[in-house]
Amino acid sequence: DDDDEEGEDYLFKIVIIGDSAVGKSNLLSRYARNEFNSHSKATIGVEFQTQSLEIDGKEVKAQIWDTAGQERFRAVTSAYYRGAVGALIVYDISRRTTFESVSRWLQELNTHSDTTVAKMLIGNKSDLEGIRDVPVEEGKALAEEHGLFFMETSALDSTNVRIAFENVIKEIYNNVS
Ligand code: GDP
Ligand code: MG
Repeated sequence: DDDDEEGEDYLFKIVIIGDSAVGKSNLLSRYARNEFNSHSKATIGVEFQTQSLEIDGKEVKAQIWDTAGQERFRAVTSAYYRGAVGALIVYDISRRTTFESVSRWLQELNTHSDTTVAKMLIGNKSDLEGIRDVPVEEGKALAEEHGLFFMETSALDSTNVRIAFENVIKEIYNNVS
C-alpha cells in the first residue's frame, strides 16, 4: 500500500509488562524515538507510542503501551491489557527478584487476554554483565517452559531492541494473516 492517506493495513496493540525499573519505558523510547533516559521517571501523559513497519508489502502499525508506573502498586488495570495481541514481559538481568516475578506477570496477562498473544520474554540491561544476577541459560529455560520467545536487550546501548519489538510484531502478523 503506497498511499499513506488510506491508513495502515493492520493495527496491533502490544503491551509491555514487568516489575518497576526493569527498563520498560526506556525500551519503548529507544525503539520508538531512539532515546534513553538515565533518570527513572514515571510516564506522564502518553499511554502508548506507535511505530509502523512493512511486512509482506503491508503497512503494519504497532501501538505499544507503556505503564504509567502503576506496576509499583500491582495495579495494572484490565483496560491496559484489553485488545492486546502482543506482549513483552521484561525483567532486569541484574536483579533476580524481577526475574522471579515473571510467572506472576504471565499469569496476569493470561487472565486478561481472550485471544492469542505473541509473547516475548526480555532480559533487559545486558550491558550490566559485571553485576549479572540471572544467567542467560535461566532466561532461555523459563522462556522455553512457557513457550515464549526470548532475547536479552539493552535499552542503554541499543542491543537487540529493534529486533525484539519487530520479532513480536512479525509473530502477531503470522498469527492474524
Ligand atoms: P520501568 O520502570 O520499567 O519503565 O523502567 P525505566 O525505563 O524507567 O528504567 C529504570 C531505570 O533503569 C532507569 O534509571 C533507566 O535509566 C535504567 N535502565 C533502563 N534500561 C537500561 C539498560 O538497558 N541498561 C542500564 N544499564 N540501565 C537501564
Ligand atoms: Mg516506566
